[in-house]
Formats: sequence, structure tokens, C-alpha cells
Amino acid sequence: MLRQRVIAALCVVHFGLFAGCSRVDSGTAEGPDLSSRLLRVVATTTVVGDLVRVVGGEHAVVDNLMGPGVDPHLFKASARDVTRMAQADLVIYNGLHLEGKMGDVFAEMQERGIPTLAVAEAVPHELLRESVLFQGNFDPHIWLDASLWQRAAGAVMRALADLDPAHASAFAARHEAFVEALDSLDAYVHKVVERIAPAHRAIVTSHDAFGYYGDAYGFEVEGLQGISTAAEAGAADVQRVADLVADRRIPAMFVESSVSPRGIEAVREAVRARGFEVAIGGTLFGDALDAPHAPAGTYLGMLRHNTDTIVSALADGAGH
Ligand SMILES: [Zn+2]
Repeated sequence: MLRQRVIAALCVVHFGLFAGCSRVDSGTAEGPDLSSRLLRVVATTTVVGDLVRVVGGEHAVVDNLMGPGVDPHLFKASARDVTRMAQADLVIYNGLHLEGKMGDVFAEMQERGIPTLAVAEAVPHELLRESVLFQGNFDPHIWLDASLWQRAAGAVMRALADLDPAHASAFAARHEAFVEALDSLDAYVHKVVERIAPAHRAIVTSHDAFGYYGDAYGFEVEGLQGISTAAEAGAADVQRVADLVADRRIPAMFVESSVSPRGIEAVREAVRARGFEVAIGGTLFGDALDAPHAPAGTYLGMLRHNTDTIVSALADGAGH
């Protein structure tokens, strides 16, 4: 339904080129009646939920399926989750198979006529990282580059305005303020990572969530488990990462809030066996935010926390 409305909107612009499009905006594309209630949105991850809260403000009720520390690669929707989605005006998820076990549920919602939005679809393919292991697939962790997350914010703004046009200008104003905050955070990250010696600009973590972060801010990234946590790290992965850390004398590695620390601890032991001590530099929030009122409980707080954690562990003089 939403998709049809978006297509219809595009067709207005290109009316002369695509004459057939005007039929799409039919009676079935009526939005919800919001005269006596707020727009109801179900979001999958805490990161997506934060974005919808930021843009929707007081005009949307956001229900998050996943809480802090939940791994979206492994999350399965319960019967109750499916009911929550079926009662929503809009379901917003990341997409690019981040929610790897939920593809059937999203398809079911579309069949039932519940509008769905995959925010990652707002990012053009040429800006996406292609997966080495899964050919034809892209790395889904787009939010860890603040400039890419701006595109997701734009998609959310348009989707909310489409269903609740009476508050379109409020969504636009909140979106604009968020984009400004993202710009200044982006500048902050670029500035503080300069404190890390080029040879130590490497983020070694549990899984490859930080590829976009690394591309944007100049880090090499080594995830023990690849871009999904669905595949367990093997002994060979542990040895490969331990070689890298010991050879380059990287001062610290990081654990992630949504992934067991066991793999990184095994690497630490393997590095020790090579005669080098590597620190655990702290917890990064890759796929899930911290608890709502914690400093890393918002998107902006999370990116700042991750950056400050990385810089204080890897900058000259840290650790050793
Ligand atoms: Zn991930």
C-alpha cells in the first residue's frame, strides 16, 4: 500500500513519461484514520526504533520488537510479535537481510496489506558494501556510517508523512534537526579518530558490523564471525585474527553488546600464546543500542560511545 503510494507520488513528477502510473493511486491506498489516535509503528531493532522515535516525535507510537542486547541476525518473531505487526499502521525494518529470520513475516505483512519499509533500501547500491561471502548480498550495517543513516532518516520521514500527511511539516522539521545532529557527530568522529596512529586504526570485533564505520572513518575492520552471527567462528578464524593482532601489535580488541564475548576471549588467548598482550578495549554497540536511558541508548549516543571507546583504547599511550 505504502509502496503504491510512493510510486504514485513519483508518477506525479514523471507524469508525461509514465502515463499508466496514475492508476496506482486507487481507493485501496487510503491511509489510517488518525482523527482520534496516533500513528502506530512497529520497528524491528533498537536502532531503527530510535530513528522512528526521533522523526515521529509525539505524533507516532513506536513499538520495538527487539530490546537492548538482542541480535537481529538470529531474532525470530513470536506469534505475539506477528500480532503486534499486524495491528500496526506501518512496519519499519532495516532490510538487506539484517533481520535474517524475518523475511517470511515481512512478506506475510505485505500480503495482509500492512505497509512495510526497509530503510536500507534508501541507500543506492553503489554506496553499499558487497558481501564477500554471500555474493549478490550487501552488508546490512548501514547505520554505523552517520552519512548513510541520513538517507534512512529521509525514508522514514517520507513514510510517516505519507500515512499522516497532517503532521508532514513536523516530521520534516524533526528530520532536519536530526540531519544537523548527524552532520556534527560525523565531523566529531572524523576529528577524534585522528588521535589514533595509522598503524593502529583497526577495529577487531566479534562480527563484521563495523565495515561502513571503517570505510567512513578510516579503519581496517576484522570481524571474527563475518557480517552475520549466524555462522559460528571456527578455530581457523581465531588463529587468523590472532595473527593479525599480534603481527600488527594492535593494542585492543572489542566485544559487542549483542554477541557472546567468547570468540574474542579465545582470540586474546591465542594472541597471548604468540607472546603479545592485547586488551579488551570495551563494549561496542553494533547491532543493538544500550538500555533506553543509558548514554549509548540512543543512536547519537551509541555512535559517540563507540567512537570514544575505540579512540581511548587505540590512541597512542592507551593500554601499554
Ligand atoms: Zn550484525
